[in-house]
Amino acid sequence: MNRRQLALLILLSTAIGFMMFSSLTSGLASVRPPVVIIGSGLAGFSAAMEALSAGQRVHMLERATKPGGNSIKASSGINGVPTPYQPPGDSIDLFKSDTIRSAGSRYTASRQALVDTLAEQSASAIEWLSSLGVDLSKVAQLGGHSAARTHRGSSGPPPGFAVGMLLAVGTTETC
Ligand SMILES: Cc1cc2nc3c(=O)[nH]c(=O)nc-3n(C[C@H](O)[C@H](O)[C@H](O)COP(=O)(O)OP(=O)(O)OC[C@H]3O[C@@H](n4cnc5c(N)ncnc54)[C@H](O)[C@@H]3O)c2cc1C
Repeated sequence: MNRRQLALLILLSTAIGFMMFSSLTSGLASVRPPVVIIGSGLAGFSAAMEALSAGQRVHMLERATKPGGNSIKASSGINGVPTPYQPPGDSIDLFKSDTIRSAGSRYTASRQALVDTLAEQSASAIEWLSSLGVDLSKVAQLGGHSAARTHRGSSGPPPGFAVGMLLAVGTTETC
Protein backbone atom coordinates (compact mmCIF):
# COMPACT_ATOMS: atom_id res chain seq x y z
CA MET A 1 0.00 0.00 0.00
CA ASN A 2 1.48 3.33 -1.04
CA ARG A 3 1.26 6.57 0.97
CA ARG A 4 -1.66 7.88 -1.08
CA GLN A 5 -3.73 4.69 -0.52
CA LEU A 6 -2.87 4.82 3.20
CA ALA A 7 -4.07 8.45 3.45
CA LEU A 8 -7.33 7.53 1.68
CA LEU A 9 -7.84 4.59 4.01
CA ILE A 10 -7.36 6.79 7.09
CA LEU A 11 -9.73 9.42 5.68
CA LEU A 12 -12.39 6.78 4.90
CA SER A 13 -12.07 5.19 8.36
CA THR A 14 -12.41 8.58 10.05
CA ALA A 15 -15.53 9.42 7.99
CA ILE A 16 -17.16 6.06 8.77
CA GLY A 17 -16.29 6.47 12.47
CA PHE A 18 -17.82 9.95 12.51
CA MET A 19 -21.02 8.71 10.81
CA MET A 20 -21.33 5.84 13.30
CA PHE A 21 -20.81 8.24 16.24
CA SER A 22 -23.42 10.71 14.89
CA SER A 23 -25.92 7.93 14.33
CA LEU A 24 -25.34 6.57 17.83
CA THR A 25 -25.71 9.93 19.56
CA SER A 26 -28.84 10.91 17.59
CA GLY A 27 -30.24 7.45 18.41
CA LEU A 28 -29.56 8.05 22.09
CA ALA A 29 -31.36 11.40 21.94
CA SER A 30 -34.45 9.85 20.38
CA VAL A 31 -34.67 7.13 23.05
CA ARG A 32 -34.37 9.57 25.96
CA PRO A 33 -37.04 8.38 28.39
CA PRO A 34 -40.21 10.46 28.74
CA VAL A 35 -41.22 12.30 31.89
CA VAL A 36 -43.95 10.20 33.51
CA ILE A 37 -46.62 12.24 35.31
CA ILE A 38 -49.17 10.48 37.50
CA GLY A 39 -52.47 12.30 37.79
CA SER A 40 -54.19 14.83 35.55
CA GLY A 41 -55.21 17.49 38.08
CA LEU A 42 -53.73 20.97 38.11
CA ALA A 43 -50.47 19.70 39.62
CA GLY A 44 -50.09 17.10 36.87
CA PHE A 45 -51.01 19.44 34.02
CA SER A 46 -48.75 22.20 35.37
CA ALA A 47 -45.85 19.74 35.54
CA ALA A 48 -46.67 18.55 32.01
CA MET A 49 -46.64 22.12 30.67
CA GLU A 50 -43.23 22.73 32.23
CA ALA A 51 -41.76 19.46 30.94
CA LEU A 52 -43.12 20.01 27.43
CA SER A 53 -41.83 23.57 27.30
CA ALA A 54 -38.39 22.19 28.27
CA GLY A 55 -38.55 19.90 25.21
CA GLN A 56 -39.29 16.68 27.12
CA ARG A 57 -41.71 13.99 26.03
CA VAL A 58 -44.51 13.39 28.56
CA HIS A 59 -46.52 10.31 29.43
CA MET A 60 -49.44 11.15 31.70
CA LEU A 61 -51.13 8.33 33.64
CA GLU A 62 -54.62 8.83 35.04
CA ARG A 63 -56.63 6.22 36.92
CA ALA A 64 -60.00 7.92 36.48
CA THR A 65 -62.01 7.68 33.30
CA LYS A 66 -61.92 11.48 32.88
CA PRO A 67 -59.04 13.92 33.42
CA GLY A 68 -59.12 16.82 35.86
CA GLY A 69 -59.24 15.22 39.31
CA ASN A 70 -60.54 17.38 42.15
CA SER A 71 -59.08 20.39 40.40
CA ILE A 72 -61.97 20.81 38.00
CA LYS A 73 -64.35 20.98 40.99
CA ALA A 74 -62.59 23.99 42.53
CA SER A 75 -65.20 26.69 42.37
CA SER A 76 -64.16 29.51 44.71
CA GLY A 77 -60.86 30.55 43.19
CA ILE A 78 -57.11 30.68 43.66
CA ASN A 79 -55.44 32.56 46.51
CA GLY A 80 -52.57 34.86 45.57
CA VAL A 81 -50.61 37.71 47.16
CA PRO A 82 -49.63 40.31 45.99
CA THR A 83 -51.33 40.58 42.59
CA PRO A 84 -52.36 43.53 40.42
CA TYR A 85 -56.02 42.53 40.82
CA GLN A 86 -56.07 42.96 44.61
CA PRO A 87 -56.98 46.10 46.49
CA PRO A 88 -54.03 47.42 48.57
CA GLY A 89 -53.43 46.20 52.12
CA ASP A 90 -52.58 42.52 51.74
CA SER A 91 -49.14 40.95 52.23
CA ILE A 92 -47.36 37.61 52.06
CA ASP A 93 -46.89 37.65 55.85
CA LEU A 94 -50.63 38.17 56.34
CA PHE A 95 -51.38 35.23 54.02
CA LYS A 96 -48.98 33.07 56.05
CA SER A 97 -50.50 34.02 59.40
CA ASP A 98 -54.05 33.44 58.06
CA THR A 99 -52.98 30.00 56.81
CA ILE A 100 -51.43 29.03 60.15
CA ARG A 101 -54.46 30.35 62.08
CA SER A 102 -56.88 28.43 59.82
CA ALA A 103 -54.88 25.23 60.20
CA GLY A 104 -55.29 25.43 63.99
CA SER A 105 -53.96 22.35 65.77
CA ARG A 106 -53.05 20.77 62.40
CA TYR A 107 -50.24 23.29 62.01
CA THR A 108 -46.81 22.05 63.08
CA ALA A 109 -43.41 23.68 62.64
CA SER A 110 -42.52 20.99 60.11
CA ARG A 111 -45.22 22.43 57.84
CA GLN A 112 -43.78 25.95 57.84
CA ALA A 113 -41.86 25.29 54.62
CA LEU A 114 -45.14 24.37 52.89
CA VAL A 115 -46.85 27.50 54.21
CA ASP A 116 -43.89 29.59 53.00
CA THR A 117 -44.03 28.04 49.52
CA LEU A 118 -47.79 28.49 49.29
CA ALA A 119 -47.71 32.16 50.26
CA GLU A 120 -44.43 33.22 48.64
CA GLN A 121 -45.13 31.57 45.27
CA SER A 122 -48.85 32.34 45.10
CA ALA A 123 -48.40 35.54 43.11
CA SER A 124 -46.22 33.87 40.49
CA ALA A 125 -48.83 31.09 40.12
CA ILE A 126 -51.52 33.69 39.38
CA GLU A 127 -49.14 35.50 37.04
CA TRP A 128 -48.29 32.27 35.17
CA LEU A 129 -51.93 31.27 34.73
CA SER A 130 -52.84 34.80 33.63
CA SER A 131 -50.02 34.72 31.07
CA LEU A 132 -51.60 31.55 29.64
CA GLY A 133 -54.90 33.38 29.20
CA VAL A 134 -56.87 32.38 32.33
CA ASP A 135 -59.05 35.23 33.58
CA LEU A 136 -58.39 35.60 37.33
CA SER A 137 -59.21 39.29 37.55
CA LYS A 138 -62.09 39.10 40.04
CA VAL A 139 -60.97 39.02 43.69
CA ALA A 140 -63.03 38.22 46.78
CA GLN A 141 -62.40 37.92 50.50
CA LEU A 142 -63.48 34.46 51.60
CA GLY A 143 -63.70 32.78 55.01
CA GLY A 144 -60.41 32.43 56.87
CA HIS A 145 -58.77 35.28 54.97
CA SER A 146 -58.27 38.73 56.44
CA ALA A 147 -57.95 40.34 52.98
CA ALA A 148 -59.41 39.92 49.49
CA ARG A 149 -57.06 37.41 47.79
CA THR A 150 -59.17 34.66 46.16
CA HIS A 151 -59.00 35.06 42.36
CA ARG A 152 -61.48 33.85 39.76
CA GLY A 153 -62.74 34.91 36.35
CA SER A 154 -65.23 37.73 35.98
CA SER A 155 -67.41 35.42 33.85
CA GLY A 156 -67.34 31.94 32.33
CA PRO A 157 -66.84 28.56 34.01
CA PRO A 158 -65.69 28.05 37.63
CA PRO A 159 -61.95 28.71 38.07
CA GLY A 160 -60.78 25.12 38.57
CA PHE A 161 -62.56 23.99 35.42
CA ALA A 162 -61.33 27.02 33.44
CA VAL A 163 -57.70 26.44 34.46
CA GLY A 164 -57.95 22.66 33.96
CA MET A 165 -59.37 23.02 30.46
CA LEU A 166 -56.75 25.56 29.45
CA LEU A 167 -53.85 23.42 30.70
CA ALA A 168 -55.35 20.29 29.15
CA VAL A 169 -55.68 21.99 25.78
CA GLY A 170 -52.22 23.55 26.19
CA THR A 171 -50.50 20.25 26.87
CA THR A 172 -52.40 18.48 24.09
CA GLU A 173 -51.50 21.18 21.56
CA THR A 174 -47.85 21.14 22.63
CA CYS A 175 -47.54 17.31 22.44
C1 LIG B 1 -65.54 20.45 45.68
C2 LIG B 1 -64.16 21.02 45.81
C3 LIG B 1 -63.98 22.41 45.69
C4 LIG B 1 -62.71 22.97 45.81
N1 LIG B 1 -62.57 24.31 45.66
C5 LIG B 1 -61.33 24.87 45.73
C6 LIG B 1 -61.14 26.25 45.46
O1 LIG B 1 -62.07 26.99 45.18
N2 LIG B 1 -59.87 26.75 45.52
C7 LIG B 1 -58.79 25.94 45.80
O2 LIG B 1 -57.66 26.46 45.84
N3 LIG B 1 -58.95 24.61 46.05
C8 LIG B 1 -60.18 24.07 46.00
N4 LIG B 1 -60.34 22.73 46.23
C9 LIG B 1 -59.13 21.94 46.47
C10 LIG B 1 -58.41 21.71 45.14
O3 LIG B 1 -59.33 21.20 44.20
C11 LIG B 1 -57.24 20.74 45.31
O4 LIG B 1 -56.36 21.26 46.30
C12 LIG B 1 -56.46 20.61 44.01
O5 LIG B 1 -57.36 20.26 42.97
C13 LIG B 1 -55.38 19.56 44.10
O6 LIG B 1 -54.81 19.43 42.80
P1 LIG B 1 -53.98 18.15 42.44
O7 LIG B 1 -53.55 18.27 41.01
O8 LIG B 1 -52.91 17.97 43.47
O9 LIG B 1 -54.99 16.94 42.67
P2 LIG B 1 -56.25 16.46 41.80
O10 LIG B 1 -56.85 17.58 41.01
O11 LIG B 1 -57.14 15.74 42.73
O12 LIG B 1 -55.60 15.47 40.76
C14 LIG B 1 -55.05 14.23 41.15
C15 LIG B 1 -55.28 13.25 40.01
O13 LIG B 1 -54.44 12.11 40.21
C16 LIG B 1 -55.18 10.95 39.88
N5 LIG B 1 -54.54 9.84 40.60
C17 LIG B 1 -54.40 9.69 41.93
N6 LIG B 1 -53.71 8.57 42.19
C18 LIG B 1 -53.42 8.00 41.01
C19 LIG B 1 -52.73 6.83 40.62
N7 LIG B 1 -52.19 5.99 41.54
N8 LIG B 1 -52.60 6.54 39.30
C20 LIG B 1 -53.12 7.37 38.36
N9 LIG B 1 -53.79 8.50 38.67
C21 LIG B 1 -53.93 8.80 39.97
C22 LIG B 1 -56.59 11.25 40.35
O14 LIG B 1 -57.55 10.43 39.71
C23 LIG B 1 -56.71 12.73 39.94
O15 LIG B 1 -57.20 12.88 38.62
C24 LIG B 1 -61.59 22.14 46.09
C25 LIG B 1 -61.76 20.75 46.19
C26 LIG B 1 -63.02 20.21 46.05
C27 LIG B 1 -63.16 18.69 46.14
